[in-house]
Amino acid sequence: MKKWLFILSIPLVAAGLVVAVMSMHKYKTYGEQAAATRAMEAVKPAAPKPVPSKNVVIYFSPHADDEVLTMGVPLINDIRAGKEVYLVLMSPGSHSFARERINGAYDIESNRAELAGKKLKDNLYKSYHDPYKEHYKDGWLTRKEFGDARLREFYLAAAAFGIPKDRIRVYNVVNDNFLYSQVRAIMASYAKKFPDATFKTMSRYDVHPDHAMCGRVMDDLFREHIVKHWVAYLSITTDRIMKVKVPGSQMVVLRNPADKAILLRACKAYNIWKPTEGLYAIGYHSVPIEFDMLMKKPYTKKVPL
Ligand SMILES: [Zn+2]
Repeated sequence: MKKWLFILSIPLVAAGLVVAVMSMHKYKTYGEQAAATRAMEAVKPAAPKPVPSKNVVIYFSPHADDEVLTMGVPLINDIRAGKEVYLVLMSPGSHSFARERINGAYDIESNRAELAGKKLKDNLYKSYHDPYKEHYKDGWLTRKEFGDARLREFYLAAAAFGIPKDRIRVYNVVNDNFLYSQVRAIMASYAKKFPDATFKTMSRYDVHPDHAMCGRVMDDLFREHIVKHWVAYLSITTDRIMKVKVPGSQMVVLRNPADKAILLRACKAYNIWKPTEGLYAIGYHSVPIEFDMLMKKPYTKKVPL
């Protein structure tokens, strides 16, 4: 090698060594970063982190359809006012009597299992259904499948309101058998996460025991200063059908009358009969009168605490 070439190569080799060391260092750094990111991802909760805020409103709907029938009006008003609305469904309501009418007969899972095999007419469509002849997507609806189908309606209604899926939670409390401890555990967990939020659900005056249980628990959490703000509503059945009068009740109407279109879309979610696609209008089969009443006169009643 010529001398000048040798002299020239020294800094090149040195530079190469520096680059190699830098690269090694870089890889090490990237490796560490990647591991750190993975670790962060691993500890990051799948659910969105709740942000305690005064702007948050959490609706506890005992069953799928209560969020529309009784709380749809204030829920729309809250979204319109820019509130961060969360929707918690306590029970998919798989024990509803509508299952037998949509299946066209009782079965061993029926509340009246002794009638298994006996046909039952669908009063809404004035006919006897047959899940196989009518090609129901789920075939014969077991309680589980019925609950899942009811959930589909619930999610469609939530979408009509414009509530994103990450602000929805669904629990599996057995309907017609809401236990104080279960309801309290769920509600108290939200009070812990959202200490400044406003909580909304049915009142203790409700004719439905599940609804009344939600009100009772919330009353206790409020008295114990676990919940700071809460609003109780009288369910449409309690108010308009059973005509229970609670002194001091206040009418709640849509702040923007044009929002009636949103409420109608949410009602419609419970009245889609497309059995081949797994939509069985369960809400409407359960309480058609309530849906008609709400669509005709969209209001609800807030009761004093
Ligand atoms: Zn209900």
